[in-house]
Amino acid sequence: MRLGVLGWPVAHSRSPAMHNAALAAVGLQGWRYQLLPVPPELFAETVRSLAQAGFRGANVTIPHKAAALALSTDRTERAAAIGAANTLTFEPGGEIVADNTDAPALVAALPFDARGQTAVVLGAGGSARAVVWALGGAGARDVLIWNRTPERARALAHEFGATALGQGDVMRDADVLVNCTAAGLDGGDSFASLPLDAGSVRNYRCVVDLVYTPSGTRLIDAAQRRGVATVDGLEILVGQGALSFERFTGRPAPVDVMRAAARG
Ligand code: NDP
Repeated sequence: MRLGVLGWPVAHSRSPAMHNAALAAVGLQGWRYQLLPVPPELFAETVRSLAQAGFRGANVTIPHKAAALALSTDRTERAAAIGAANTLTFEPGGEIVADNTDAPALVAALPFDARGQTAVVLGAGGSARAVVWALGGAGARDVLIWNRTPERARALAHEFGATALGQGDVMRDADVLVNCTAAGLDGGDSFASLPLDAGSVRNYRCVVDLVYTPSGTRLIDAAQRRGVATVDGLEILVGQGALSFERFTGRPAPVDVMRAAARG
C-alpha cells in the first residue's frame, strides 16, 4: 500500500520520514510513504491516477490545497468550509475523499485555549484558510489577516468574518501570531518579506510558524530569544500528520514516534 505527499516544491518535506517511521512502529509492513513532486499543470491527472498505482492516500501541500478539494468526490465538512484540503483518501469504489487536518492541528498545538483570544494571521493561501477557519471555530474574539497581495487578505476576511490588515497594522498586540506565508521556507530571513521585525514578536503571547526548515526559522528563533511561547512548523506537521495517518490506516497514530522522526 502506498502513501505520499503532493507538492511543488516538496523536496524539503519531513512527511516521508515521519510517516514511514509511524508505519513501521504500528507494524504496517509493505506500506510506504513517498515524496510526490507534481507541478500544478499535472496535479489533477496525477491525483486521478494514484489509486490505480496502489495509493491509499496522499497529503497535499503548497500550492495544491484548493485544487485537491476541487477534484475530490467527497469531502469532510471542515474541508468544504475551509475550501482547501491537505489529505486525500482513495476509497475502493473510486471515491477521492478530501479532509483538512491543518485546522485541528493548529488549535491543538496552541499553548492556550483560543476562545476569546485575538490573532494576527499572515498569508491568505490554503493554510491561512484553515487557520482562520480554525481560530474562528475555536471562539477567537478577533482574527486579523495580512497578506502580501492585499486583495486576497480582504477576500479571505470577508469570507470568514475576519478583518484585513494593511501593511502598517501588523505590529500590534495580539495573543497569537500565525505565519501562514512561505516566507522563510527557503531558509532565508522570514522577516525580509513580512511586515514586522524581530523585536515586534514581543507584541504576541505566542508565535506560530507553519514554515519549517532544517535549521529552524528566524521567526521562531526571534520569539524564543525574547521568551515568547512558540509553536514551530514541525509541531504542526506532526499534528496534521497524525490525523492524516489515522485516516489513511485506521490505526491510532504513534505521535511520539512521528515527532522524533520529524525532528530527526
Ligand atoms: P499557498 O501557496 O496556498 O499560499 C502561500 C501564501 O504565502 C500566500 O499568502 C502568498 O502570498 C504567501 N507568500 C508566498 N511567498 C511569500 C513571500 N516571499 N513573502 C510573503 N508572503 C509570501 O501555500 P500554503 O498556504 O499551503 O502554505 C504556506 C506555507 O505554510 C508553506 O511554506 C507551507 O510549507 C507551510 N505549511 C506548513 C504546514 C505544516 O504542517 N507545518 C502545513 C501547511 C502549510 P500571495 O497571496 O501574495 O502570493
